[in-house]
Amino acid sequence: PFCFVSGELDDCHCDVESIDRFNNELLFPKLQALLQTDYFRFYKVNLNKPCPFWTSGSHCGLRDCTVKPCSPYSAEVNSELDKCEKSEALGAVDVSLSDETREALKNWTKHDDEAQRFCLLDDEWCPDSQYVDLLLNPERFTGYKGPEAWKIWTSIYEENCFKPFTVKRPLSPLYSSGRSEGEGSRAFYTWLEGQCVEKRAFYRLISGLHASISIHLSARYLLSDEWFEKRWGPNVSEFRSRFDSELTQGEGPKRLRNLYFLFLIELRALVKALPVVKEGSFKLFTGQPQEDCRNKERLLDLLHTARSFPLHFNETSLFAGDETEAAKLKEDVRLAFMNISRIMDCVECFKCRLWGKLQTQGLGTALKILFSELPSSPPSSRLTLNRQELVALVNAIGRISTSIKELQNFRELLAEDT
Ligand code: FAD
Repeated sequence: PFCFVSGELDDCHCDVESIDRFNNELLFPKLQALLQTDYFRFYKVNLNKPCPFWTSGSHCGLRDCTVKPCSPYSAEVNSELDKCEKSEALGAVDVSLSDETREALKNWTKHDDEAQRFCLLDDEWCPDSQYVDLLLNPERFTGYKGPEAWKIWTSIYEENCFKPFTVKRPLSPLYSSGRSEGEGSRAFYTWLEGQCVEKRAFYRLISGLHASISIHLSARYLLSDEWFEKRWGPNVSEFRSRFDSELTQGEGPKRLRNLYFLFLIELRALVKALPVVKEGSFKLFTGQPQEDCRNKERLLDLLHTARSFPLHFNETSLFAGDETEAAKLKEDVRLAFMNISRIMDCVECFKCRLWGKLQTQGLGTALKILFSELPSSPPSSRLTLNRQELVALVNAIGRISTSIKELQNFRELLAEDT
């Protein structure tokens, strides 16, 4: 079909059909169950940070961009949670662990984690940071578009994806003329093909994230807005206008392939997070001990399911070769990604900012998990994760997994249409 992709993905020994089957039947239901739990549905974020790059206009003022905050726990539980988060952040030591593991965990605290991060974390202790209930604030169509939204995407692609030139016309042609892509994109692909595999991969991750946002806003589109009721649901023509091969001059399917690539990267990161979650001090604390225990089991089950996927992306194919060169390239990629996470504070629609921050933080965590260790790294620089990173990672892959599931839904709707 004109909007869909199939077959093997570039640079990975994996095909779209295997991902669809694995995700839709196995991973998606487990992720959904986990994301309903208190530990994963409450995300602490600072939505009031000023944009560090330009003076942004006023907030967009769209009704559907509003974020409902919440205070999920009582003061007593909140203070316990804060203590617990602090200790999880430091990799505190669990008495039930072996001496060897305990020693390794102690070393984590000596290690400066900052240098390994691919994205900026909000200061969790800043009074402006607040818990947001993600289930109350679903990612969906908000109406945020036009020059403000393009400015963000342009600055992400043109200034932070290693592009050596600026496309002459604005990235987005206007709605009236469809979403024709034209000259700029051909020049871009010629340039992209000449880049090293790491820079291509970086672009594909960002493009995959952009595709996921476009799928979500098409799948939960505002279908009717009456005074007594708002109705949200799939908008097939919106989806087609973004992904149909003809309407996008071949770009749509390439972007969907990038979404699958992003899925493979985040899935691989989940697998590599398994020992950290298993051995570390994560108790998934919410103040309800029985529930916390069940959630930990659910999380471990999810990570084992992720591990059972037979066609994992091989991350050692990136940043391979000469160690000094690889370290320099990795640092360039890390800084570029860090910048993208800062740009999220310039998104004027708060709902879009919330999900943009969460997903860049989740992807940044995945990159940290996959690439923070060099083969020669000392044991003291072993990976650590804090609660914010774990929540962001699991929610981020939850978004991509949902996008892949939504694709199946759009396939069925399009088949009904024809
Ligand atoms: P845009 O999606 O704005 O794309 C701009 C240009 O980028 C396109 O013309 C094309 O040249 C290129 N492009 C498009 N897709 C890709 C891709 N996958 N890979 C590479 N290049 C691409 N809107 C909502 O309704 N709900 C949300 O939750 C939401 N979240 C957002 C989060 C962020 C961080 C940002 C920056 C925007 C968000 N938006 C959201 C707005 C949304 O992404 C679009 O900008 C908006 O719908 C207008 O779409 P458009 O057709 O003009 O093209």
